[in-house]
Amino acid sequence: MKISKDTVATFHYRLTADDELLIEDSFKNEPLTYLHGHQNLIIGMENALENKSEGDKFSITIPPEEAYGQRIDEMVQLVPITAFDAVDELFEGMRFTATTDAGDVPVVITQIENDQVTVDGNHPLAGQTLNFSVEILSIRPATAEEIEHGHVHGAGGHHH
Ligand code: ZN
Repeated sequence: MKISKDTVATFHYRLTADDELLIEDSFKNEPLTYLHGHQNLIIGMENALENKSEGDKFSITIPPEEAYGQRIDEMVQLVPITAFDAVDELFEGMRFTATTDAGDVPVVITQIENDQVTVDGNHPLAGQTLNFSVEILSIRPATAEEIEHGHVHGAGGHHH
């Protein structure tokens, strides 16, 4: 069978960014299983996987617009260090969840200078062109429950 809406596909992938830096390599870990056609993956990847068959191998380059979007300058903010008084230890690269008007946003501290902390709410891969090498391992029809929930159950999916 081929990957289409409401099928569940399992695949391995290797992901590198613009600078050839290896970001993820599922071949060394567990493959990814997902429900196709329910926006569980970045759109560029769902499009590339459409109509693929078991055993297919391919490489694809996905621009930011079809991946995690462009970086948004407004999502980088300077915060006075006093806002972190309740935090024991503060360091560059530290990740936490910020509560904003738009809901909870995962952010990272990119710089601490004097009494100012730079906080970046962009996705770590925003603005990056992504290169994937993919191998399709298996494809099956989704269950009615999976389609209703919009995600995969069982191995590699949700357990509930
Ligand atoms: Zn579910």
